[in-house]
Amino acid sequence: MMPGYGRNLRRKAIISILMFAAVSCLPLLAQSSPEEMKGYVEVLPSVKSKFWKIDPTVGYAVKNVGGGVYVISDNGWQSAFLVTNGGVIVFDAPASFGKNIPSAIAKVTDQPIKILVYSHIHKDHIGGSAAFKGIKGLQIVALESVTDFLKEMNDPNRLLPNVTFKSEKTITLGGKTVELARHFYHSHEGDLFIYVPQAKFLMAVDCVTPGYAPFQGFDITTNFHDYLKVFDELAAYDFDTFVGGHLTDIGGKKDVEITKEFTYDVYNTVKRIHNNMDQAAVVAEAAKSIGTDNEFGLFKAVLDKVTNESVRELQPRWIDRLAGVDVWLPSHVRTALVYVRWDDKE
Ligand SMILES: [Zn+2]
Repeated sequence: MMPGYGRNLRRKAIISILMFAAVSCLPLLAQSSPEEMKGYVEVLPSVKSKFWKIDPTVGYAVKNVGGGVYVISDNGWQSAFLVTNGGVIVFDAPASFGKNIPSAIAKVTDQPIKILVYSHIHKDHIGGSAAFKGIKGLQIVALESVTDFLKEMNDPNRLLPNVTFKSEKTITLGGKTVELARHFYHSHEGDLFIYVPQAKFLMAVDCVTPGYAPFQGFDITTNFHDYLKVFDELAAYDFDTFVGGHLTDIGGKKDVEITKEFTYDVYNTVKRIHNNMDQAAVVAEAAKSIGTDNEFGLFKAVLDKVTNESVRELQPRWIDRLAGVDVWLPSHVRTALVYVRWDDKE
């Protein structure tokens, strides 16, 4: 993990006690000061105009996207359901409004809820499933790896799946089909693509947020290598409606394309800046301030310089194209940097 920076320099250097004392007293916790918060650009008007109107008395809104599919959102999280002649299939039950899903469905159809599908383990997307506890004969469908995790976690807010599969599964109900396929772009236990071919509906949670840059660190991915592939994997599907599980609107192919363009711009920029940087010079410069014993500190100076130069170059290119770029770009750069430095080839 650590390079051998500064071993020679260190021998020649003496740490200043005063310098050490000064550095150790600095507050190093991440923080969002009021000044920093005010510095963020406003959400792009084109994105703001697509916020859903949420009835505050129920806390969510429902949109019919055709083919029997309805999307539910509270402008923070999204889930969806498919109405068939044999019952209803629900895709995710977010912690925020999951308790309202059964009544939301009852307003649309008399069909009973038969199946609940989990996209992945995260509690913000399935932590409202306890509301489905009393539904007789309910099938809860999830990946085996997801189920293993949930069994170990034993969280009363996330009901245990009772139908599991390894990588692919087709659900047929009331003459309609849902195709589930495992991917690994986000969470360690796997993430599903949920596809309803008759509706040209594709749901893949936590990779693309229409109108916005991805959430922190490319949606807190545990696998940036697979995240880089997700856009082409999504584009291989024939879909008109895309649901990414978050924020304010339903998306489409163009949202997948622009998020791919953003992601590869970040990745390629970080790679170029990192690989062309004279790291020994950065370390030597940092050693003038902190001496040479603190190899973590010297190494951090290199990573910080790559991060700062990448953010400076990328932000002007993207600030008017996606919302939230200034909020999360340093985290995206950091995720790409970890990949470039430790996983990638030269
Ligand atoms: Zn997630």
